[in-house]
Amino acid sequence: MDRIHKKSAITKSKEMILAAHEQGEALLWGRYEQQLPLCVFTANGLNCRKCFNGPCRVNPFGDEPSRGICGADRDQIVMETLFQATLEGILEMVRSVSLLNGSGLTQEFPDIAPDLPWETQRKLSEMGLLPVRQEQLFEVQNSYFSHKGYLSRTIKDLTRLGLIQYGFWKKAEALANTLHQDEPPFDALGANILLVGQPPLGLIHSLQNQPRGKGINLFLAGAKIIPSAPAMADHGTPELALAMNLDALVIAPNSSWPALETLTKKFAIPEILIDETKSIDEMTSRAAKLALGHRRNASYITPSRITPRTSSQKMARSFFDKTDEIREALEAGRIQGIVVMLGEPNVKQTFFERTLTLMENCLSQGCLVLLGDAWAAQADLLDEELAKRIPDRRSSQKAYFSSYEIPEVVVFLKDLSQGKAFASIPAVIAFPEFFRASTWATAVGFLSLGFAVQIGTPLPFWGSPAITEILLKDWPKLSGGTLLASPSLPSSQAQAEEILSFLQARQV
Ligand code: SF4
Repeated sequence: MDRIHKKSAITKSKEMILAAHEQGEALLWGRYEQQLPLCVFTANGLNCRKCFNGPCRVNPFGDEPSRGICGADRDQIVMETLFQATLEGILEMVRSVSLLNGSGLTQEFPDIAPDLPWETQRKLSEMGLLPVRQEQLFEVQNSYFSHKGYLSRTIKDLTRLGLIQYGFWKKAEALANTLHQDEPPFDALGANILLVGQPPLGLIHSLQNQPRGKGINLFLAGAKIIPSAPAMADHGTPELALAMNLDALVIAPNSSWPALETLTKKFAIPEILIDETKSIDEMTSRAAKLALGHRRNASYITPSRITPRTSSQKMARSFFDKTDEIREALEAGRIQGIVVMLGEPNVKQTFFERTLTLMENCLSQGCLVLLGDAWAAQADLLDEELAKRIPDRRSSQKAYFSSYEIPEVVVFLKDLSQGKAFASIPAVIAFPEFFRASTWATAVGFLSLGFAVQIGTPLPFWGSPAITEILLKDWPKLSGGTLLASPSLPSSQAQAEEILSFLQARQV
């Protein structure tokens, strides 16, 4: 771990990583190094565990074995890996919707067609992909695994999955809008609790409604999924949040952070598991008591502190409300294009480096930049670092949005498009870094709506040249979506240039 100081592009994060390292804890970076070298079969999507005759693997260099036990070759296995990752990601979204309102899953999707340019509506309808219904989640299947002639039909099913993903975003947006509770003010003397996974909404509200004087600051890990609960600026991983002034960790059953259990013990942070046999009041009272007790005996391991968000964080509404003005600026060349960035840091890449490089280049060239999902939680950290790279950082050109506002971003871009397909307007959806299957499903969602989508992280889907070809060529035919990605991941500077030349070629 002699390069531990290079793991993040954010100065404050580097200090925290070093402080944790001095305590003998290398966090996820240490565990990543123990995994090296990564299995080349798996890294290219050439392994399969679909049935119990396997697991099987296919040689990436053309030698034997070239087929799994059932006879599936590299193309079929890679497509299956891709399909399963997309489905898994969408199921995560389904769980988010059920967190907002359990009965929300019984209602049909709102009509998504009006959010799309006319040309895209026509294309998707002719393909039988619109209208999209929730029950189709159970109809899509990769039974096409049986014959290579069906590979392009699988990508049609992937497009359907992407539209289903958008249907769930629309539901999440509608449900979030029914939760009128505002984000409570940050209590500087309060105890800080982080919730990981998807806890019951009642527990979130109950913890937030603790009487004043018992001050609880409640945060969610990852993206902001409900209006009242902020996502924590955790420097890219909740493991680093534990190294800050965190006073308790509440873990939901579907939390996907198995290392936290060991770390809470090591850092002496109280941990509360959600116990369905206990009432919300009982769980709230236990969590508050443990957190406030820890707060009194504060023993935090790094100098970094959890702070309230500053006023520099500008939300995307300022863009959404100025569509006509922005369209005129695009037409006059005062704005070069719109870049929407989503994702979260990946341990294989220096945290935030590719995101900051894209932001720096796009803002310097006069683009509008919208950052959503987990990037919005890190807004202050990104802003601070960006100010060092571009001192006149044109903050009016940048805004942040929450996960449940994705449909508003789509409608904003549709209003700017004046009926043209999304991939023919100067707009790119970029995923500079990510690791979650749900973020890949988000990328599939945007491709299925017809956007140009750039991927900036290595994916386990490049072990089949034929599938790469299908991904790059078939999406434009199905939805108009364009995938800007390749097996040999370009440098971050090259990706920034790719975005800028894409935008330039589409200027009005
Ligand atoms: S390649 Fe075929 S036999 Fe092997 S695990 Fe996958 S489905 Fe089963």
